Amino acid sequence: MRYVQEFRDPKAARALLAEIGRVLDQIGATRESPVHIMEICGGHTHAIFRYGLDKLVPEGLEFIHGPGCPVCVLPMSRVDECVEIAERPEVIFTTFGDAMRVPGTRKSLMQAKAGGADIRMVYSPLDALELARRNPGREVVFFGLGFETTTPSTALSIQQAAREGLTNFSVFCNHITVPPPIKALLDDPHMVLDGFVGPGHVSMVIGTRPYDFIARDYGKPLVVAGFEPLDLLQSVLMVLTQIRDGRAEIENQYARVVPADGNPVSLAAIADVYEPRPTFEWRGLGEIDASGLRIRDAYRAWDAEEKFGIGYGAGRARVVQEPEGCACGMVMTGRCKPVDCPQFGTGCTPEMPLGALMVSSEGACAAYYQYGGARAPQAAE
Ligand code: SF4
Repeated sequence: MRYVQEFRDPKAARALLAEIGRVLDQIGATRESPVHIMEICGGHTHAIFRYGLDKLVPEGLEFIHGPGCPVCVLPMSRVDECVEIAERPEVIFTTFGDAMRVPGTRKSLMQAKAGGADIRMVYSPLDALELARRNPGREVVFFGLGFETTTPSTALSIQQAAREGLTNFSVFCNHITVPPPIKALLDDPHMVLDGFVGPGHVSMVIGTRPYDFIARDYGKPLVVAGFEPLDLLQSVLMVLTQIRDGRAEIENQYARVVPADGNPVSLAAIADVYEPRPTFEWRGLGEIDASGLRIRDAYRAWDAEEKFGIGYGAGRARVVQEPEGCACGMVMTGRCKPVDCPQFGTGCTPEMPLGALMVSSEGACAAYYQYGGARAPQAAE
């Protein structure tokens, strides 16, 4: 396949792995004292496991799986609120498929649908807009979920609904942003992180400048990376090279896609429709200031929180305890691996997930379950 196979070339991969090993030796990293690199994005986590990079990289390097899977970090309280909206008889609730099975405290959207709620999977918020046009007597709600990658398309759908005066359409906004949780992780005294592989798709929208504080204020390198095996290996090598040389910079390995200033059209749509919430709850990380987006007052007629008196606007108590035995929060902050969770593969499987990390296709636990897991056999020896 043109433009893909070049990024999967085994000979080039072997050369990069050898160079990674050399730089790790120069740093003095060992299995007992590894360099910790966090891949922030769930898409990177899956690419690492899909291509077996976790097993190919030399000892002395440990991947920490970050909070960059939007379904995984969605707190149970927000799933409960989705169900509450979806079970209203006048509502058609629309969502991307991977959010359907995320457990709430009472039930998931899938279970609510089985119980009779009108919940429909869509591929785009524009599908939800079309449903609203075709069902003027119903309230069509779109579950706006995701990082800066999906935020612009939800914004465009709200702008379009406003242009058409389509008032039976609204968005339950759970859009979040990447830089604040990175800052929260860096401020956590328990975190041991030496550098980051930065998200590719998010950076396509926001560019590389919002990460500057990571190098400037925390002295950690970050390299924005693509999703093919050679992209990831080269990015890891770039992070390690910075560490060896005592540098901390923001570099862009994915320059063929990511412009330094991001996408101005997407950024303009985001700025027009949303503003930061004072705080937002993240599964496993707690409340993080200015990490979530809400719909601006100018578009409040399309804000499901306003329309249904639910969520942050209604001042509800939000923090909900995770199910007993669930280690999602520990995994997401790098304190343990999925295989260390007592529920992994027994009480929690992709067929019967207990935590969100097993539900989402980008979740670390689903990656370990599907592809075998990083050095799990050694850990079990
Ligand atoms: S195995 Fe299940 S319960 Fe345990 S951390 Fe992963 S998703 Fe959460």
